[in-house]
Amino acid sequence: MHDAPSRKLIIAIDGPAGAGKSTIASRLARKLGYVNLESGAMYRALGLKAIEWDVSFEDEPALVKLAHDSRIQLEPTLTGNRVLLDGRDVSERVREPDVTDAASRVSVHPKVREWMVARQQEMGTGGGIVMEGRDIGTKVFPNADVKIFLDADPVVREQRRLRQQNVRDAYSEATAAELRERDRRDRTRAASPLVAAPDALILDSTSLSEDEVLRRMEELVKAKMEV
Ligand code: C5P
Repeated sequence: MHDAPSRKLIIAIDGPAGAGKSTIASRLARKLGYVNLESGAMYRALGLKAIEWDVSFEDEPALVKLAHDSRIQLEPTLTGNRVLLDGRDVSERVREPDVTDAASRVSVHPKVREWMVARQQEMGTGGGIVMEGRDIGTKVFPNADVKIFLDADPVVREQRRLRQQNVRDAYSEATAAELRERDRRDRTRAASPLVAAPDALILDSTSLSEDEVLRRMEELVKAKMEV
């Protein structure tokens, strides 16, 4: 019987900011005909709503209520996720530095994470997805078919992020500092800190090209499909 190749897998890609997760996840999803979901965009949308509604990033119950009262939707496109907050396209706004910082701060709260994880699990029903984030292989889909932890040297991640943002030299130290601070918060928070799942393949992309990273991931996925 040959029903294995059509099995719709769940692929989890985790790792720190600037490791190249979004680009790779989107390319991998396209190759497989899967849906790519950027879980970080959901934290960004909530961060934006907290800014707009003037809810403190420290107020966990108020943030959870805000999440409950919000409609956060991710729409996969060829170049990444379109992010809708209560029906409004906030895809560009959520990439701005104040929202990036807000996302990092609201995501430390366990009850906020619980809400997010439940929504993300719903999105994965049926498989055929590549979801990227910080806790996908550990919390959202601990039984994911493929788990990849994509890492890279911090200096290389900072440089990539700067190139992505087309940032002029004058601003580079601020971006690098922001990335370091987000990293620190992600790795040290009590609830679901950023760690590789014990059964994740750790891919260090420091000296690998994007094509090479993609090729390795494809091999891994293919091997799983043939099981
Ligand atoms: O991936 P992205 O940079 O868009 O994520 C924004 C922030 O959301 C991260 O800095 C991280 O603090 C948080 N996040 C998280 N768990 C995820 C995805 C993102 O805590 N699964």
